[in-house]
Amino acid sequence: MGWKSLDDMDLAGKRVLVRVDINVPLKDGKVTDASRIERTTPTIRDIRAKGGSPILLAHFGRPKGKPVPEMSLSQLVPALEDAFGTEVIFVERPSREFIDAQAPDAVILVENTRFSPMEEANDPQMAQFLASLGDVYCNDAFSAAHRAHASTEGVAHLLPSCAGRLMAEELGALEKALGNPERPLTAVVGGAKVSTKLDLLSNLLDKTDYLVIGGGMANTFLAAQGVNVGTSLAEHDMADTARQILADADRKGCEIILPVDIAISPAFEAAESATYVDVSDCPDDQMILDAGPRTVEKIAEVITASKTLIMNGPLGVFELPPYHMATSAMLDCIAEQTGAGDLISVAGGGDTVAAINKAGHADDFSYISTAGGAFLEWMEGKTLPGVAALG
Ligand code: AMP
Repeated sequence: MGWKSLDDMDLAGKRVLVRVDINVPLKDGKVTDASRIERTTPTIRDIRAKGGSPILLAHFGRPKGKPVPEMSLSQLVPALEDAFGTEVIFVERPSREFIDAQAPDAVILVENTRFSPMEEANDPQMAQFLASLGDVYCNDAFSAAHRAHASTEGVAHLLPSCAGRLMAEELGALEKALGNPERPLTAVVGGAKVSTKLDLLSNLLDKTDYLVIGGGMANTFLAAQGVNVGTSLAEHDMADTARQILADADRKGCEIILPVDIAISPAFEAAESATYVDVSDCPDDQMILDAGPRTVEKIAEVITASKTLIMNGPLGVFELPPYHMATSAMLDCIAEQTGAGDLISVAGGGDTVAAINKAGHADDFSYISTAGGAFLEWMEGKTLPGVAALG
């Protein structure tokens, strides 16, 4: 593991800098979905229970290094107070004097860290300044851990540091899924393009027993094998890379599962019903928008034989009915196996979480990561600077 948790820290009488992800959606100044705030609550509660005073550091939106009033964290004070059940003191320009003047169990919120250009530059001066505000650093923002910024990485080197509850939960779940999984291990990778997920595919080839490839990515692989994909989204210039991946998988004992039947359509749009054909029968003037029922059956067999599954990306254009069929049917199978205690299932990424919510399976995975980019980089086998700095 290499990092400490809140349980390892003495926080009595300490000012604890907590990096959180409270980048929640706002409409007319009101928080429309407070989930991210709620998920930080255990960390805030436990710091106070151990006698510490949490000082929240967070970004909000992309202000690009200058103050933008619409991105002020002051707007989140009421939602934070609701979630934490206590007063939250907002401070635009914090100083150690100001912080020391607050009650020993005060919850303090510092203005958007990205209002300074020094945050994203990971400027040592900003890290030093942040460190001067507290006695201990706690990172609870896994979703920002792939960025080496002053509040996520720089400051961690300057104070005794630990992971917050949400960060520890994420890291624990991810370790179980890919670090030290029960086998067989299946990865499902879907989505639009191979080119954006090359690092992901190579890392997964080394680690998984089965690799299910779906979505636009599958078209690229099919085309590379000489299959006609008509007008489908496919990256024909990636053919050599796709063939290399297939050869590597063979050598490494990882079985790749590609569609054996497909839904075809003359246009990229929703339809009353889907037309399914064998994968070798895509007409020149049609496109592939989903995998078919025989492919789903094959994937279900693999899932049923697996002990662990990790998923990023849909199998088809799930936003356009009926082309959500393969993704939904696969999610039903993952939910059933997980519910029966036969599968550890982990998913992450914006589109993936949207597809899972849409299929009504938000509570049926062993773990759904709150992080998009950080989840993907972790799945790619990359070191996350915000996590490494806690070690
Ligand atoms: P990504 O962000 O790479 O995970 O890609 C997700 C997107 O891939 C979703 O918006 C899907 O609609 C899209 N997608 C999935 N399958 C296909 C396909 N066969 N053709 C075009 N786009 C697809």
